[in-house]
Amino acid sequence: MSYQKFADIIIDISHEDLDKTYQYAIPKQYLSLAVIGALVVVPFGNGNRTINGYIVGLSHKPKISIEKIKPIYQVVKDAPVIESHLIYLAYWMKETFGGTMNDALKTVIPVKKAVKIKEKRRIVLIKPYDELYEIYQEQSKKNNVARVRLLEALLKNNILDYNEAIDKLKISRPVLKWFEENQLIKIESKQLYRNPIEQKNVSKELVILNEEQRYIADCIIKDYNEGYRYTYLIHGVTGSGKTEVYMEIISQVIARGRQVIVLIPEIALTYQTVNRFYDRFGDRVSILNSRMSDGERYDQSLRAKNGEIDIIIGPRSALFTPFKNLGLIIIDEEHEGSYKSEITPKYHATMVARKRAELNNAFVILGSATPSLESYQKGISGEYKLFSLTKRAKEAALPKIWIVDLREELKEKNRSIFSRKLKELIMDRLEKKEQIMLFINRRGFSGFVSCRSCGHVMKCNHCDISLTYHIQGKLLCHYCGYEEAMPKICPACGSKYIASFGTGTQKVEEMVRREFPEARVLRMDTDTTKNKGGHQKILEAFAEHKADILVGTQMIVKGHDFPLVSLVGIIAADLSLYAGDFRAAERTFQLLSQAAGRAGRDAIPGEVVIQTYNPDHYSITTAAEGNYQEFYEQEMLYRQLMQYPPAANILLLLVSSKDEEKVDKAIVYAGEVLKEYSNQNQHSFKVIGPAPATIAKAKDIYRRVIYIKDEDYNLLVALKNYLELCFSSSKHFQDCTYQFDFNPMSV
Ligand code: ADP
Ligand code: ZN
Ligand code: ZN
Repeated sequence: MSYQKFADIIIDISHEDLDKTYQYAIPKQYLSLAVIGALVVVPFGNGNRTINGYIVGLSHKPKISIEKIKPIYQVVKDAPVIESHLIYLAYWMKETFGGTMNDALKTVIPVKKAVKIKEKRRIVLIKPYDELYEIYQEQSKKNNVARVRLLEALLKNNILDYNEAIDKLKISRPVLKWFEENQLIKIESKQLYRNPIEQKNVSKELVILNEEQRYIADCIIKDYNEGYRYTYLIHGVTGSGKTEVYMEIISQVIARGRQVIVLIPEIALTYQTVNRFYDRFGDRVSILNSRMSDGERYDQSLRAKNGEIDIIIGPRSALFTPFKNLGLIIIDEEHEGSYKSEITPKYHATMVARKRAELNNAFVILGSATPSLESYQKGISGEYKLFSLTKRAKEAALPKIWIVDLREELKEKNRSIFSRKLKELIMDRLEKKEQIMLFINRRGFSGFVSCRSCGHVMKCNHCDISLTYHIQGKLLCHYCGYEEAMPKICPACGSKYIASFGTGTQKVEEMVRREFPEARVLRMDTDTTKNKGGHQKILEAFAEHKADILVGTQMIVKGHDFPLVSLVGIIAADLSLYAGDFRAAERTFQLLSQAAGRAGRDAIPGEVVIQTYNPDHYSITTAAEGNYQEFYEQEMLYRQLMQYPPAANILLLLVSSKDEEKVDKAIVYAGEVLKEYSNQNQHSFKVIGPAPATIAKAKDIYRRVIYIKDEDYNLLVALKNYLELCFSSSKHFQDCTYQFDFNPMSV
């Protein structure tokens, strides 16, 4: 028999190390069927045991001596197995975004550690009540205290929770055994999936879609019924009723026996949002979030696979929920940076969603109040079908927005972080017992620490990053956690004029307490929400009006509904403008629009104060006017001029190593490879670098980059493949690692 090709096969996808593959030979008659993801039957171990597996790689080279390689017995044709789809999706991700098959499999098939499914054990009384009472009296006389405790409990409740009985009643196992032997009780156990939704009673409001909402829902459902599978973009201001539209379409899709994935940024995944879905769809809904244990996540994927749920709500990773008959993927707040993976493969959820939809004959809906430029451009060009919702669903007026020029405040000798306007409005709201949100786009007490004499900036010893000043005189690296004390004198020149600059959440909180001592203040940032549930607790306390003012980072502007909030203050709108990357203006626009959307959600009309040193910047003026179109046009001009996405595509190559000399050699080699490729193929793609990365050193690892720009995305993919091939056989890369990132979130 002669074989032309070999297949790498994973035997057990529920196994922890997915990189454990076995090589088999593909018999001639199966050559065309043996594709990535195909289900196969192979001989395994000694004797004639056979086992199922999946193809995850194909090659022409045997890894061991050819006589030892066994043939595949059978390639199952058209196996409608969910694993096949997901393995193929992993393969596509590896090809499209870079990395190894193993990286991709680990992303798509999340930890499937063998977890014990929790069992609910109960103690059930099986003797009639009066007999039990007799035994109770008898044991009381004998003074068998442990038995008496359990008997008393059973007299009150015929069924007891096993664990509670052991813990609270302090009943030992021998005591239980005595009860069993005397046929007083039996111990039952029931498998219990953990349902992560904490049910809260919310009053059900009947919502009848308005004309705009109805139109969108009808168009999309009509397309679906006619067999079209498009990608839709719904552009609608905060509160315009996008979620209601999603729910209407979801109900139609699940009515046709198909399942739905709803992606929501983790930060917006609050009980308020989840409960709306739960109210409408009951326990056919489940959620995923990063605070869940591996066991809880595993349960949810099992429930999905077994057809026990129809809708999963979660962050990026929920994209890989193993639904057998997926019909729809919704990506809410599609502009969010968290939809881009920060680990290899560095995929964007929207691209993967569209691919998965294509494989499953499903469709995709993207929604946002401030669509990413990438998506909006596709909406305009017709690649996506674009819809808009133009008004708030509840007829609440849009908030009044004040732009305050901080330069004017300085002229008026107001050195407080609160402008006169903001101060006046805060006092007004405190008096009226309404609520206020103060928003600052930076955590910690304040920004970096530098010397006013020589300009020296305090940096982390392990990372090329400025340290951040925290209260209690600590300097902290937000990248690696390194910590040192605030120096009294400048370590570079000895001057004592070393101080922290900028403003952070802690400082704003302190200032609020100083200037408005009667106000009750809560602060929400990464520091106060480190503990499990910390996030939720602060939001709930604020929702219950246990505080007047909530100070926070961008966390507080996402998707929460606080009816009493009638004032939003943005302390320094420019902070995000100088983030030094090409999406800075877009991010500023998004943050300001979202923050503005927080004010006056219900009956009380809202006001927003935007404090800035750049009152004329288009990202600030257009956000204040709520004019997305104008922002889009201005920002596109800049992207076109600079050839940034979506005007062009960027491929980032990041090479890193502990050894500075080696990383420099490797990146220079990569540059040469690119030059050669360009000459040979007469391509004129643009290469920027080699150069040190923005963070040139992190956790003692040196980092170097090359950026490649071109309009043609597929050319960049071809370059990535070519570079991967060159690096795998180059001696320069022996002590270096490399990563690719297409259209990175920041440059
Ligand atoms: P978005 O997702 O665009 O922010 P939501 O769907 O959350 O908007 O709607 C905002 C508020 O308006 C919610 O309280 C919702 O219940 C309400 N709402 C939405 N559509 C309608 C409608 N047609 N009639 C009445 N209330 C609505
Ligand atoms: Zn100095
Ligand atoms: Zn560090």
